[in-house]
Amino acid sequence: MMDFVAKRRRLVECLVSEGYLRSRRVIDAMLGVPRELFVPEDARAGAYADCPMPIGFGQTISAPHMVALMTELLGLEDDSVVLEVGSGSGYQAAVIAAAAPDGFVYSVERIESLADFARDNLASCKIRNVEVVSGDGTLGYVRKAPYGRIIVTAAAPGVPESLLGQLSDGGRLLIPVGDRFLQDLVEVRNEGGKFVEKHHGGCVFVPLIGEEGWK
Ligand code: SAM
Repeated sequence: MMDFVAKRRRLVECLVSEGYLRSRRVIDAMLGVPRELFVPEDARAGAYADCPMPIGFGQTISAPHMVALMTELLGLEDDSVVLEVGSGSGYQAAVIAAAAPDGFVYSVERIESLADFARDNLASCKIRNVEVVSGDGTLGYVRKAPYGRIIVTAAAPGVPESLLGQLSDGGRLLIPVGDRFLQDLVEVRNEGGKFVEKHHGGCVFVPLIGEEGWK
């Protein structure tokens, strides 16, 4: 029997020592979410390596250090309402949900089978403050807008206007922007209707495909 709890603790310690994890809120969230339940069953042994892993349909679950970095940059509060674009396995949504226990995560996924995979994984962890929505997340999710935080976990050619329109005043949006091979992790803050950008360095994500993404 593999000791996943010990492996998870060791990974989190590494992410702290490498500077990706900084806050008690996100450290506890990553300690609390079993990543092995968000990867295909035959890949569970490798769930605590700090790398992305295939989840089918040419898509990946992001590397733990990227999940840690992006979750820290979101600056979550207990009751944050978050839009995620790109549910994939549901792991990033689960970590956000654990870090904002009185909040809610709306997570949009364009591949129906992956939306089901994410729903099943979240249900197996008894995470109830996430709703996975099927559709094109480049258009956001108007029904529940505006959002205090928006996180896009796929690579975009630019920041979709629809997402800026669904970001609350004072809110933050995180998105990898660049070409299909290399992107820059961009943070956009809505400061009274003025969008202020900050750049957080290079990253590599699968493409964001949709109306306001790659065609
Ligand atoms: N956050 C995920 C996780 O924790 O496993 C990893 C996301 S994976 C790197 C990117 C995901 O974005 C894929 O599942 C892909 O199908 C999805 N995606 C790409 N374009 C999309 C779009 N326009 N709307 C919604 N999801 C999209």
